[in-house]
Amino acid sequence: LRRKENQYIEELNTRTQEFQNPKATYFQDLPLSNAVLRGLKDASYVKLTDIQRDSIPVSSKGNDVLAAAKTGSGKTLAFLVPVLEKLYRERWTEYDGVGALIISPTRELAMQIYEVLVKIGTHCSFSAGLVIGGKDVKFESERISKINILIGTPGRILQHMDQAVGLNTDNLQILVLDEADRCLDMGFQKTLDAIVGNLPASRQTLLFSATQSQSLNDLARLSLTDYKTVGKPANV
Ligand code: ADP
Ligand code: MG
Repeated sequence: LRRKENQYIEELNTRTQEFQNPKATYFQDLPLSNAVLRGLKDASYVKLTDIQRDSIPVSSKGNDVLAAAKTGSGKTLAFLVPVLEKLYRERWTEYDGVGALIISPTRELAMQIYEVLVKIGTHCSFSAGLVIGGKDVKFESERISKINILIGTPGRILQHMDQAVGLNTDNLQILVLDEADRCLDMGFQKTLDAIVGNLPASRQTLLFSATQSQSLNDLARLSLTDYKTVGKPANV
């Protein structure tokens, strides 16, 4: 069975690297695992939005990505799908620790991401958790080591990194900076720089934003490597 799964993942990776269809309409048109496709279907996500169609193939190939698209365009799935694909293809297990870190500017947005992840992740075996404050740090710390996909706000994530027995991100595969423009507007630039400085350089990074600015370009330069740009920023 294991050998069969390895072969399936290998074929999926090949299809992903060879994929070229700028006119894909449905999630089903993309080279995605059955587990993720079933989760999307269960949650009634069938048709791709523009940013999903343009960014998911690029992200799934392993590239760093700077994605810009206006609010309401479907950016959450545009990064959650590649996150699930990445961990699935790495055969991530509960014992492998934090494989994905998703940073969001506010507790409310972090909770929304968590809810979408739970909805589409029903056929994946990863654990997910929120680190957004509200509960004491110790309570969160005790749970954090068992989480595979960690979603949190900048201040709280850095707080956990600074703990004596803190958040271990040595195995991190993929970092997502969501609503990066809002993070900067809210004064999180230094916090984000410090978080990124703690992460392994070998990770993949996806940066999502509604708008573009000089400070956003600075953040991109600091956190991304050889990145591709997709979508277009909203006019402000
Ligand atoms: P953004 O982060 O770009 O502001 P969201 O990811 O929050 O956008 O998505 C906006 C809304 O669109 C949500 O209600 C979400 O459920 C819905 N949505 C996203 N992608 C799809 C899709 N492929 N099919 C149908 N609805 C979608
Ligand atoms: Mg969003």
